[in-house]
Amino acid sequence: MRKLRIGIVGGSLAGLFAGILLQRAGHEVAIYERSAHGLGGRGAGLVPQQELFDLLRVIGAEDAAETGVVAKERIYFDRDGSILQRMRMPQTQISWDYLYDRVMSHLAPSAFRLDREVVDVADGENGAEIVFRDDTKQSVDLVVGADGVGSVVRATVNRTDHANLFAGYVAWRGLIPEKHLPDGASILLDRFAFYVTTGVHILGYLVPGSRGETMVGHRRYNWVWYRPTELKVLGQTMTDEHGHESKYSLRRGGLTLERRDAFRRDARDLLPPQFALAVEAEPTPSIQGIFDYAASRMIGGSVALIGDAAFVARPHTAMGVSKAAADVVALVGCLARAEEVRVALHDFEAARIGVGRNTVEYGRRLGATAL
Ligand SMILES: Cc1cc2nc3c(=O)[nH]c(=O)nc-3n(C[C@H](O)[C@H](O)[C@H](O)COP(=O)(O)OP(=O)(O)OC[C@H]3O[C@@H](n4cnc5c(N)ncnc54)[C@H](O)[C@@H]3O)c2cc1C
Repeated sequence: MRKLRIGIVGGSLAGLFAGILLQRAGHEVAIYERSAHGLGGRGAGLVPQQELFDLLRVIGAEDAAETGVVAKERIYFDRDGSILQRMRMPQTQISWDYLYDRVMSHLAPSAFRLDREVVDVADGENGAEIVFRDDTKQSVDLVVGADGVGSVVRATVNRTDHANLFAGYVAWRGLIPEKHLPDGASILLDRFAFYVTTGVHILGYLVPGSRGETMVGHRRYNWVWYRPTELKVLGQTMTDEHGHESKYSLRRGGLTLERRDAFRRDARDLLPPQFALAVEAEPTPSIQGIFDYAASRMIGGSVALIGDAAFVARPHTAMGVSKAAADVVALVGCLARAEEVRVALHDFEAARIGVGRNTVEYGRRLGATAL
């Protein structure tokens, strides 16, 4: 493949993975990220899958996925805090922010453009034009849509069916220094813990510190509480203390004190005491809406969708980051093998569309039993 001018929309993990590998393949790459200040220090934890290890090995950043905390077993609580079930199932969890920082260090910094919100992409057979919020435009040979759940690029490829489908529940999330976890909750440390009953599903696990610290006392505890939420109150759920409504999430620090206190009361009423303590120890919980989306097409004439822009799978699959990694490996491989962009995109879609659909479907099945 000749050297291409490639515009990547979205500078989270999918965009970074693509940027690094396409740069290394000799293409001229720019990543356009909406955020003005970058994504460093955000995110929580994840369970890495093989596809992520494979990609990090190619980049030379294996250490990022190896810097994890091992949960030695899974435990399932009863409402009173007694343990109903134990399963020997060692598993490693890593930090999203540490992974992001390590991966970012492999990108030539000049390729990363902050505060560049894309509002439209005009697609063609021999290139595409990216339109930014400030009305400026950029012509490229290929656009990679890595702009996540609220993807703008997705609508260029799937004109009529680009909307996410709300799953009927949201995830409240907390991430606290392990030292802030009260003694009464110490059983949570070093274990992957769950409490699951009708209408209630919470889980938690340790992840490294933001600089990859894995020593006892320097790690962080990550909990996720899935809560049924009616569509008609979703907007209200995602409204911050200033009355600003987001479509997909409520950032850390965005809750009013009144809502946080009500949330803590719910925790005491509904959760085993250990989890109620962990919830109480988080001063600024965040909220993530749970959605499904499966793209009909992953490609246009000169556009490819990767990661959550193409397929949004529920977090129960633990596949978000690894799916993005596998999309990128496939796209970069197809571009390297083909003489023409059109052929490469066709091969990429053929390789990934079935995997994406199956992952979304798997998430729906897991979600059906989650609450
Ligand atoms: C800050 C953050 C923290 C996360 N933390 C976790 C976590 O702890 N655990 C986990 O499993 N998953 C987490 N995720 C989700 C995870 O990254 C994705 O599920 C998966 O990696 C696929 O990523 P993605 O790059 O396709 O999409 P995303 O990670 O959603 O990234 C999309 C990116 O595109 C940018 N963007 C969106 N619209 C535009 C636009 N119009 N113009 C320009 N840029 C745009 C966004 O600002 C964002 O950076 C997080 C995502 C983000 C953004």
